[in-house]
Amino acid sequence: QIRYLNPVGRVMLGHDGRPPARAFDFLPDEMAADLMREGMRAAERDGTWTGENRLKGVDGRVIPVSQVLIAHRSPHRDVPTYSIVCRDMSDQRRLEDQLRRAALYDDVTGLPNRALLEVELLRTLGGAHPTATTAVMFADVDRLQRVNETFGSDVGDQVVNTVSERISQLIRGADILARYGGAQFAVVLSEVSDEFEPIGFARRLLRCFADPMEIDGHLVRVTGSVGIALTSGTADPREALRSAEIALHRAKEAGGGRFALFDLDLQDRAQQRVEREADLREALESGSWWLAYQPVVDARSGSVTGAEALLRFTHPEKGPVSPFDLVRLAEQSGAIIDLGREILNRACAEATRWRERGHAMSVAVNVSAIQLRDATFVDDVSDALHRSGLPARNLVIELTETTLATDEHGEVRSLAAIRSLGCRVALDDFGTGFSSLSGLRDLPIDVVKLDRSFITDLTGSPRASALVEAVVTLAGALDLTVVAEGVETTEQHELLARLGCDRIQGYLISQPLSPDEMDDFLTAHSVADR
Ligand code: C2E
Ligand code: CA
Ligand code: CA
Repeated sequence: QIRYLNPVGRVMLGHDGRPPARAFDFLPDEMAADLMREGMRAAERDGTWTGENRLKGVDGRVIPVSQVLIAHRSPHRDVPTYSIVCRDMSDQRRLEDQLRRAALYDDVTGLPNRALLEVELLRTLGGAHPTATTAVMFADVDRLQRVNETFGSDVGDQVVNTVSERISQLIRGADILARYGGAQFAVVLSEVSDEFEPIGFARRLLRCFADPMEIDGHLVRVTGSVGIALTSGTADPREALRSAEIALHRAKEAGGGRFALFDLDLQDRAQQRVEREADLREALESGSWWLAYQPVVDARSGSVTGAEALLRFTHPEKGPVSPFDLVRLAEQSGAIIDLGREILNRACAEATRWRERGHAMSVAVNVSAIQLRDATFVDDVSDALHRSGLPARNLVIELTETTLATDEHGEVRSLAAIRSLGCRVALDDFGTGFSSLSGLRDLPIDVVKLDRSFITDLTGSPRASALVEAVVTLAGALDLTVVAEGVETTEQHELLARLGCDRIQGYLISQPLSPDEMDDFLTAHSVADR
């Protein structure tokens, strides 16, 4: 007699849940009934029984289940009572059958073959979030035929084996590696963030082919090609495989030893990215980057109070590289930590040199979120100060609001530490993005830099000037210094001074200058006392 059937059980068996119903009515045949009796006896004896059986729904459908039977001490003495927990195994059985039907693994490498790959890929795509991106990649030995002709096909087989072992080392967790036939491997990376993740992987794949191998006393060198296709959760897996194969052929046609993306737009972007990464390496390795300094002056007196250090790099052929791009690339590769440290050191040293020549000025250094999060940041700042002898209050650390407003990685503590060293913190680009007046009150800052877009609107828009006035008033109450960035006209300058803005920075005063030009600029301008 069933006393209780949970909602999922009711749906599964198609029963409305109202007693009376007998558990044995839901067993499809005598064999299942025997099994049930056996389970009940075992549970009576041992307390529980775990096993598999089949149930039959009201509609006649037979459902394979795994089940646990638990025997209870009966409240009514002689009536044996059981709890039965069943799990529907239909999906798993179906999949297992499907797998059994196909021959699943490759003999040479022991890797899943094409059939298993397709099943797994289907599952990966089905299980992924609809907007998640999955990368499907094909990798193939270039000109394997030539290896076979030169060394014999045994050696050719071992090349494939060696490559397969190397690639296996790269595969993690939910990734799939399969042999697709010939010397062709397929790799599926699930939930990639963008095209650069599979590109990074493709480069490692290429090394699996290109690193020399010693086989039967021969030193064998081959190259490989990789094709990459990106697909979303809802896509057809066969389509994705076809696209990856097309990309692979493109890589081979281009001479092999390289990767190609199915999407040509992505291919272009990737190419540009590769070039820019090379620019960055070049800049860092040659040490040919330098800092430009843009003077900051007192809005009323016009005397120089400081300068903002801005990263500069000129590529030997391509000309100047935007600091935005350089910084972004350095952030992505992690190089920003070392570069940022050198920028701090250089800026502090150069500012100290100017101070020693009688120009009592501060220097402002831009710091990226990744630097601030790094455990060494506070020490780096303190080192730069000690090494250069720059007084801490003459170093201003510029950060944007998004960087300042989070505390996921101990940012607040780093900021507090920087300020307790005596350095000042500036909120850069105020007026863009998420800037809010309450941010000024709540953030641990000393300086607000009004963004250039703000200043551009200023003379034409009463709203912009009202906002500047509000910021200035609030800043006054909070004892913050207000710097206007991107001031290009005398009109803007005059209005800002009238509104009570403390400092001015922009082309009107000066473009960012090389250190030599800055020497001249400082000589030509009187310098205030901080
Ligand atoms: P930012 O911190 O807002 O720097 C001000 C940018 O505005 C500079 O561009 C500067 O040349 C430009 N600028 C200054 N005055 C004017 C003006 O009157 N009119 C106009 N139209 N533009 C003006 P730059 O040097 O290209 O730097 C761009 C950004 O790159 C910087 O924006 C900063 O976010 C980043 N950056 C530069 N150097 C560094 C660095 O050393 N470290 C880090 N983390 N970021 C840096
Ligand atoms: Ca800045
Ligand atoms: Ca800015």
